[in-house]
Amino acid sequence: MITIKSSKEIEKMRAAGKITGDALREIEKHIKPGVSTAELDKIAYNFIISKGATPSFLHYNGFPGSICASPNDWVVHGIPSKDVVLAEGDIISIDMGACKDGYHGDAARTYAVGKISDEAQKLIDVTKQSFFEGIKQVVHGAKLGDVSAAIQEYVEMNGYSVVRDLVGHGIGKNLHEDPNVPNFGHKGKGVKLAQGMTLAIEPMVNAGEYDVCVLEDDWTVVTEDGSLSAHYENTILVTKDGCEILTL
Ligand code: MG
Repeated sequence: MITIKSSKEIEKMRAAGKITGDALREIEKHIKPGVSTAELDKIAYNFIISKGATPSFLHYNGFPGSICASPNDWVVHGIPSKDVVLAEGDIISIDMGACKDGYHGDAARTYAVGKISDEAQKLIDVTKQSFFEGIKQVVHGAKLGDVSAAIQEYVEMNGYSVVRDLVGHGIGKNLHEDPNVPNFGHKGKGVKLAQGMTLAIEPMVNAGEYDVCVLEDDWTVVTEDGSLSAHYENTILVTKDGCEILTL
């Protein structure tokens, strides 16, 4: 069931979204060669708690961290670990959420670790821009397929592929709500968007083919061909005239 948020609920979504966006900025300050993803997880946890919120991901379906930390060819759901240490030239995707007063924010960024290749930087830039191409289509009365198709078109025009097995989602009182928000699809198809819907739109983009597989820990999703992958996500509110990004 797709929920339409009341103005009171939207206020709470804004508060949760702000903490989520601020937490990512805090994490970003600490991204450098030699830092482990367990250290980044701790920074995220402490920041979220200090704002009177709780980490949305911690214990979600048994997930052991406050962030998902996925370097290089890991797509999403990487478990923070002291054994995963960032190195010069890596890229690292951080996905996280914060819950405040019963409402969630969810966002992801891919960061450069030190100096990275032009190729890796282009992947990060295209992934981020694909989100913004997608949300240009968001407005009361539009179809979800308009958003999905815009993301896919921009990514593929740049020679990359959009992951099919994982998609964005509605968000609110629950971290994952209806509808599914694929990053691929057809204009004019799918759910009709309405003001008051809140969605997590999150292109996951591979430099190679779109196929992914899951490692033996049952969490970590990696590209099947070993190519780099990037992620960019924000929680947005559908409005009469467009959308408002809640997690910048
Ligand atoms: Mg999400």
